[in-house]
Amino acid sequence: MNSRNHIAVIGAGLIGSLLSIYLAKRGYKVSVFERRADMRVSNTEAGRSINLALSTRGIKALEEVGLADVLKSVAIPMHGRMMHDLQGNLSFLPYGREGQYINSISRSGLNEVLMNEAEKHNVTFHFNNKCLAVDFEQTSLTLHDLNSKQNVTKEFDLIIGADGAFSAIRSAMQITDRFNYAQHYIEHSYKELHIPAGENNKHLLEKNALHIWPRESFMMIALPNPDGSFTCTLFLANQGSNSFNSLTTSEDISTFLTRNFPDAVKLIPGLINQYHTNPTSSLVMIKCFPWVKNKTLVIGDAAHAIVPFYGQGMNAGFEDCRILNNLLSKHNDNWPIVLEEFQTIRKPDTDAIAELALSNFIEMRDLVADPKFLLRKKIEAKLHELYPDKWIPLYSMVTFNDSIRYSEALAMGRKQQMIMDKILTTPEINATWQQLNFKEIVSQLER
Ligand code: FAD
Repeated sequence: MNSRNHIAVIGAGLIGSLLSIYLAKRGYKVSVFERRADMRVSNTEAGRSINLALSTRGIKALEEVGLADVLKSVAIPMHGRMMHDLQGNLSFLPYGREGQYINSISRSGLNEVLMNEAEKHNVTFHFNNKCLAVDFEQTSLTLHDLNSKQNVTKEFDLIIGADGAFSAIRSAMQITDRFNYAQHYIEHSYKELHIPAGENNKHLLEKNALHIWPRESFMMIALPNPDGSFTCTLFLANQGSNSFNSLTTSEDISTFLTRNFPDAVKLIPGLINQYHTNPTSSLVMIKCFPWVKNKTLVIGDAAHAIVPFYGQGMNAGFEDCRILNNLLSKHNDNWPIVLEEFQTIRKPDTDAIAELALSNFIEMRDLVADPKFLLRKKIEAKLHELYPDKWIPLYSMVTFNDSIRYSEALAMGRKQQMIMDKILTTPEINATWQQLNFKEIVSQLER
């Protein structure tokens, strides 16, 4: 392929928009087809702020296209988790070392910046264009224009499906030979609730933290927005007691929320109305392989949708774009080689982050309130302080690092877990942990 080649990207979400910049900067002609209207003209969030945690892997990719500084200037640093107990007492657990933080950023704001930048590099966006079908032999797409109600079929040199968890491109791959696919809805769904700003846009909770109300089988979190508000996400099971299904009457909802989140409830005006009005959304995990069929590739959530508990779905998708671009450089844009290598190296890493994301749900809703877990974090922080290159806590390997692969982080994390589990059985460990032989503990990693 050469620079006159025409690449179609399906989906102008976060990953499709970033990828289009990378490809356009390499000199390709890029057309993006998006089934929704242009969010810059008609904001589909309808006044609601929806935010995401952006961390090192995502920032690295944004840096490469020259956008990291502009985005960091609108993001809110979150230095740790602020836990709220049933009485509204607070405790703070830093995410990493001093100066390490994740960033709360507006999903639509980020998407808009990416699309604006893509247009500067001559990417063309075709909104209200829904991909209906793909022909892998012809490398062609059938698109439905929602304005003109016309279907049109177009050929391209390459097609990339960045069309999210319910990808039309992946659906077409599913009916081809030897395509593996697994979809799993977890037991919990989520609902967003909104804490408005106080007077003069003041944040009514600590601004520079990710707030968690861990309640064992369910939880709520809140991320800050620049306008002083917070977006809360309530995660509840679908069925059983304390579930979205069982909480139906306004009275039950009010009793449940007031009992479990007393300090937050005071800050959410029209809580019951918000609860009834805001949608309850499912959480799905998707794995598939291969990601490539002839000259068509799936990327981002279309290839590997994960649950949101590690704050890594978008960051992993951005990392996909960076790695694909690196491989294009390495192989002089020889796409058949690049596509094969991309899916081979990337699949174990996205499987690893899928597993990590699922287990982090247990950590967030349950363990963060467990004294043993907090002690473990303290010991690990000490190990990291003394041996920063040897003992890197799992959360830091995933979140504050862009050179350790997710699969390496998972493997190292398992080793650390075994060592720590043993240490935590030491009698009187609460009182004596400072006297542990830290050098010997670190050396166990090499055995
Ligand atoms: P999407 O964002 O789904 O975009 C796909 C685009 O394709 C959409 O615009 C869609 O309209 C379009 N499309 C779909 N089908 C078609 C079609 N047939 N034709 C044309 N266009 C089509 N990740 C993080 O890194 N940090 C977080 O803190 C975080 N928090 C999250 C919280 C929640 C509650 C959830 C659900 C997810 C969270 N994620 C987070 C994950 C993140 O949202 C996703 O990983 C990311 O949005 C994936 O981007 P994408 O572009 O691959 O897919």
